[in-house]
Amino acid sequence: MKPKYEDSRLYRVRHSAAHVMAQAVLEMFPTGKVAIGPPIEDGFYYDFDLPRTLSPDDLAVIERRMREIIVGDHPFVRREVSAEAARQVFAGQPYKLQLIDGLVSGGLTEDGEAPAAASPGAGGVVITTYRHDTFEDLCRGPHVERTGQINPDAIKLLKVAGAYWRGDERNPMLQRIYGTAWETAEELEAYLARMAEAEKRDHRRLGAQLDLFSIEPDQLGGGLILWHPKGGLIRHIAEAFCKEEHLANGYDLVYSPHIGKSTLWETSGHLGFYRENMYSPMDIDGQAYYLKPMNCPFHIMIYKSSLRSYRDLPLRYAEWGTVYRYERGGVLHGLLRVRGFTQDDAHHFCRPDQMPDEIDFVLNFCLHILRSFGFTDFNAYLSTRPGEGKAVGDPAQWQAAEAALDASLKRSGVPYDIDEGGGAFYGPKIDLKVRDAIGREWQLSTIQFDFNESERFDLTYIGEDGQPHRPYMVHRALLGSMERFFGVLIEHFGGAFPVWLAPVQATLIPIADRHVEYARQVAARLKGARLRASVDDSTDRMGNKIRKAQEQKIPYMLVVGDKEVQAGAVAVRLRNNQDLGPRPVEEVIAMIQDAVAGRRNV
Ligand code: ZN
Repeated sequence: MKPKYEDSRLYRVRHSAAHVMAQAVLEMFPTGKVAIGPPIEDGFYYDFDLPRTLSPDDLAVIERRMREIIVGDHPFVRREVSAEAARQVFAGQPYKLQLIDGLVSGGLTEDGEAPAAASPGAGGVVITTYRHDTFEDLCRGPHVERTGQINPDAIKLLKVAGAYWRGDERNPMLQRIYGTAWETAEELEAYLARMAEAEKRDHRRLGAQLDLFSIEPDQLGGGLILWHPKGGLIRHIAEAFCKEEHLANGYDLVYSPHIGKSTLWETSGHLGFYRENMYSPMDIDGQAYYLKPMNCPFHIMIYKSSLRSYRDLPLRYAEWGTVYRYERGGVLHGLLRVRGFTQDDAHHFCRPDQMPDEIDFVLNFCLHILRSFGFTDFNAYLSTRPGEGKAVGDPAQWQAAEAALDASLKRSGVPYDIDEGGGAFYGPKIDLKVRDAIGREWQLSTIQFDFNESERFDLTYIGEDGQPHRPYMVHRALLGSMERFFGVLIEHFGGAFPVWLAPVQATLIPIADRHVEYARQVAARLKGARLRASVDDSTDRMGNKIRKAQEQKIPYMLVVGDKEVQAGAVAVRLRNNQDLGPRPVEEVIAMIQDAVAGRRNV
């Protein structure tokens, strides 16, 4: 098992850097208010309520002052105080006072999080603070021992962003300063280079540049995606490919409605344990209906629509099911965190004796599809049974399911970690992650057992003995959601989709007006061969046309001038700038078709 980030030195360095930053900001704005400032992946932030908006120049000043504080080598001193004493320390700091109230009531930790276990002692709550130099913070720690243990050459403040207090848009908007801290200057450099690369690949930026999708929070609503024609085409190709693979691998395709009666969601338990993620009901003929947050109950109803025999199993129902889940406005993010999305969802029902093979099958099927989209580097988490009393179902079933998941992972060769006790209350699961072109990990597939729904809906099949038996039920999302997967794909390829997915595969570039007619004829031949071709018949100069095609990341640029018209050829330029020179049209068609079939980049 990898050591937890929370236990690493870098985590303490970043947390300490956040405190140092808060001191520097308060020196700049003595009337400023501090909120919370935790370490995060690759860095830290701190939220402030300040009399004016911060500029990039301010960040440079704060950063310089941070370096001075760091080399001052001030010790971090931990104190335990009563709530009353803490209120005096943080007098005039309303956000800290709110956190103290939360601590006293047991609803919060010093970091503003919900506590894992609230422990108000006999003599009231004990509150911990950390002080260095002139700054004292409400804080659980841990920290480095002295500010001098932060490398002053390996810190950088990155940006300021708006953030609502406690992530709630009804609360005041604060200014959040993001920073990063590393052990060495070289590590910092490498991180900044990765960030710059990620920025170039940002799916929101590329989504606009390539005209793939848009989001209209004001007119339409946040977290709701409009797929434009080019994005829609990519989604269609991806879905069509996946659906064919599903059908060829023993899945049945099903469709289900977007809404269902409250009674259904009561039976499934969603109104009990998932309500805060569901939207308010609508009234239809005096009956409450809910938008679906998941497809499971519908697939279960299809299963229950007739008597199932042991000979019918396994059954694999797949649906591209559009679901709606409530997310706070503050956490919505492009295609990655949305309110309405389409899952490539499936539910497997099988007999206990089929279960190990079924898990092998589904894991390999997931890997096969993900590889088809160009991912080669995988990582998995196996989450097992939570502690006593926190799980439903027979412990022997859990054990069998966990053993099957574990064995399948071993056979697949995918490296994995075990999250002991980290499973949902209703069953163990595998989460499958992919590493993208710049080394970031994205969680995509989930294979999740469910011992809860099969009980709640009383799922059975008739066994060889003529008696009813309970089938195993497994939820599976493969790409996850089409929206989020599209975001990941855009960033993985930097918008330069492999030829089979590229919305325009080839563009004809006539050098002069007299070549336009020939360009159109060639484009028609490509289209006749089921390739996606366009003609740039604008009055731009050739250099501009090539630049435009490169901005659109079109795999093949086919330039035609007098020589090409005469020879019945096109001059081929690839989007990676490779110049293949003049080629007969037939050969170019075969070359593109070959790249499509091999799902290659060119
Ligand atoms: Zn499900």
